[in-house]
Amino acid sequence: MRIPLVIGNWKMNGTLVEARALATAVRDGLKRPRGTEVVLCPPFTALAAVSEIVAGTPIGLGAQNCHAEASGAHTGEVAPPMLVELGCRLVLLGHSERRKELGETDDQINRKVAGVLAHGLTPVLCVGESGEERRQGLTFTTVEGQLRAGLAGLDGASIARTVLAYEPVWAIGTGVNATPAQAAEVHGYVRGLVSELTSKEIAQTVRIVYGGSVKADNADALMGEADIDGALVGGASLNASGFIAIVRKAARGAASRGE
Ligand code: PEP
Repeated sequence: MRIPLVIGNWKMNGTLVEARALATAVRDGLKRPRGTEVVLCPPFTALAAVSEIVAGTPIGLGAQNCHAEASGAHTGEVAPPMLVELGCRLVLLGHSERRKELGETDDQINRKVAGVLAHGLTPVLCVGESGEERRQGLTFTTVEGQLRAGLAGLDGASIARTVLAYEPVWAIGTGVNATPAQAAEVHGYVRGLVSELTSKEIAQTVRIVYGGSVKADNADALMGEADIDGALVGGASLNASGFIAIVRKAARGAASRGE
């Protein structure tokens, strides 16, 4: 059984005042989220404040990135133990905005995945093809390359602790989501690849979430697909009621599939 996971990626949005208000509204609107794990990923500057707001509730805290190493001369970076101290349970890694804007490489991302796991955090490894790659029929090639590189050197137990996020780059922040059939096709492919890298049993336990313009009005159809285990939500997570609606739809989707 895979419990759906809905992650709110606030990106570079939210002063402390705004972050406190949003986290409080999500917390109060989701007193007892049933059948879904919910994690908020505010900017680093708001992690401590949001941590206090969600403390003692089922809502988890996550970070949008971190360094692979535990400490050292890396100006401007944040290390996994610092995130643990703040109460984070999960870290987004390899988001396409970081790959594109900052040139993050598969190798760097792979080291971050290992670094995060070493500190008991859950990495969320983001993969996905660009619009051009999809047009050229390279979707599976791109996703496979990013996954193999991102998970390189990890044993089955470590991969079992990792969450995978399929985020087609052309769908992120564009308002154009992958259709449920497009997303399901890639999710099925990803699960097959995880099976090849580990075992059929482990592949059945790994959560693969979809990200890319998920909103309350498309969540039902996406979350109804068998291999879609939740959502990584960007823009729509900045609105508490819209985000809460997505969480409820993810729970309903899983329930309707008998999970
Ligand atoms: C994201 O931030 O990972 C994302 C999918 O953004 P959006 O929902 O805005 O497309």
